[in-house]
Amino acid sequence: MEKPMESTRSHDRLRAGAAFPALALLLSALLGSAAPALAKLNVVATTPELGALAAAVGGDKVAVLNLAKPTEDPHFVDARPTHIVTLNRADALIEGGAELELGWLPPLVEGARNTKVAPGAPGRIAASEGIQLVDIPAVADRSRGDIHAAGNPHFMMDPLNARIVAAHIADSFCKIDAGSCAAFRSNLAAFEGRLDAKMKEWTAALAPYKGASIVTYHATWRYFAARFDLKSDIYLESKPGIPPSPPHLAEVIGKMKADGIKLILIEPYQSRKVAETVAEHAGAAIASVAQFPGGLPGTDGDYLALIDADVKGIAAGLGRH
Ligand SMILES: [Zn+2]
Repeated sequence: MEKPMESTRSHDRLRAGAAFPALALLLSALLGSAAPALAKLNVVATTPELGALAAAVGGDKVAVLNLAKPTEDPHFVDARPTHIVTLNRADALIEGGAELELGWLPPLVEGARNTKVAPGAPGRIAASEGIQLVDIPAVADRSRGDIHAAGNPHFMMDPLNARIVAAHIADSFCKIDAGSCAAFRSNLAAFEGRLDAKMKEWTAALAPYKGASIVTYHATWRYFAARFDLKSDIYLESKPGIPPSPPHLAEVIGKMKADGIKLILIEPYQSRKVAETVAEHAGAAIASVAQFPGGLPGTDGDYLALIDADVKGIAAGLGRH
């Protein structure tokens, strides 16, 4: 009586074995035509403002994830195992470049073992390409802790640099997904139109403060200040990445008093306490600003909303005196 049972089992196995390819064929027939249109590009951005631009350009053709939180210092992002998983599934990786992510990104990319986003791959997009950097030191000296050894990497704070980066992202997306290129170009044009209109508003809002100096914690606002005719060359940090020292802060307070500088900008991850102490001694105000969408209320995922909030905060701060 064993033989029939055995044969029944083989028969079941045979049927099951036959069923799976049949099912697979059926599914591929059902999904076959729709699959390419449904497949979104998995885009990973190191920081949220790059992610916001990728989403604006990519529209419904991309799914965007950011590695850094809006409240994290982009030079010192906490590397997490989930970052490696995210990078492993990426079709494209957008980084600021100019050594912004030097301290944390390379080991994550190495760990992800994804040739699509390896250095030199079409999916590896460096925003700094085609951007005129400022503050490039005559001699790079990383040994003293200077994290701007390749020049100032905070170029995205100038909206016209963001315009260049958005076009760069569109070009790169077209290379990776040629079928969606027309959509990328059209999304880019819409973004540029919104940015150009906002640019006029921002320029008008800051025009009354032309030439005014602002003190910032880190050299984040160099490009922003240059674009809007403000001055930003006094920092609470002793050097980029080096925390403030009491003698340095005393010097800053002296300069602020001597030059009548009345505004200090502070970002979410910087010491507000230090800023408050300096503001108190120098008789200055503090404005909360951010480099990243989501770093200020109502700006999540929206670069233009972020710059809007920054411009409003800075104009209000400069207008107090
Ligand atoms: Zn920096």
